[in-house]
Amino acid sequence: MIKLKNVSVRYKKGEVHAINNLSLSFEKGEFVCVLGKSGAGKSTFIRCINGIQKPTTGEVVINNTSLLNLKEKELRVVRSNIGMIFQQNYLIPRLTVFQNVITGTFGKRKAWKNLLGVFTDEEKERSNRALRAVELENLTERRVEQLSGGQIQRVGIARALVQKPYVILGDEPVASLDISTSIKIFKLLEKIHKEKQIVTIINVHDVQLAKRFATRIVALKNGEVIFDGAPGELTRDV
Ligand code: ADP
Ligand code: ADP
Repeated sequence: MIKLKNVSVRYKKGEVHAINNLSLSFEKGEFVCVLGKSGAGKSTFIRCINGIQKPTTGEVVINNTSLLNLKEKELRVVRSNIGMIFQQNYLIPRLTVFQNVITGTFGKRKAWKNLLGVFTDEEKERSNRALRAVELENLTERRVEQLSGGQIQRVGIARALVQKPYVILGDEPVASLDISTSIKIFKLLEKIHKEKQIVTIINVHDVQLAKRFATRIVALKNGEVIFDGAPGELTRDV
């Protein structure tokens, strides 16, 4: 479903090897946690999968579509099937939970319609379903600026879900949350992953979280894979 073939990313005219010759594939049913210290290349890796970052060499293939040589418009279509969640989810604080989530349907409609807030019943229903999935159905009218960190992260997940993704990518989505809130978010991601069979690939720096939730752990160090396997097999220090 997702294939990286000899993917390298170099920054600073080749001085920094952010990721180095990665070849990995990910299939339906996998809940992958990517571990590694700060600077290991986790974020670059995630950004390559959704095409935000173009590899210096190598190729990324998603659902048999190579991202090499795709035009920006075609790339947007691929991306519209990928739900991204971040440490900062780029939500609009003054807007309500519902308004933030329904903007996740952008990209599949014309910009002027977005500005006028013209949404179809199907888009509204899809947004409500996503909000139920993250258990925020009682807070739909609350402004995002009035929410806790964990609730904000759930809005971010709902906003990703509204795109009906078959892949969810997370770039340190729980990095700013305490451990019990992080566990709640992971439980939610696990539930969504199982129900909807969404391939889920999440960067985390907490080894215990990864061991508890992942079906597969990939550990990076200096842009290279130092471990790829079942959580139970992870023994070395990553
Ligand atoms: P190139 O190898 O193509 O010259 P650069 O490293 O000069 O690439 O920069 C590529 C892009 O990344 C630029 O937009 C630059 O502003 C940005 N950038 C450079 N260094 C960093 C850094 N340490 N962290 C985040 N962004 C950076
Ligand atoms: P992680 O997510 O594991 O912290 P990153 O993928 O952000 O790792 O970074 C991998 C390496 O690439 C680091 O050495 C980082 O400083 C460098 N790096 C990341 N983005 C840029 C950029 N835009 N320009 C230059 N160097 C970068």
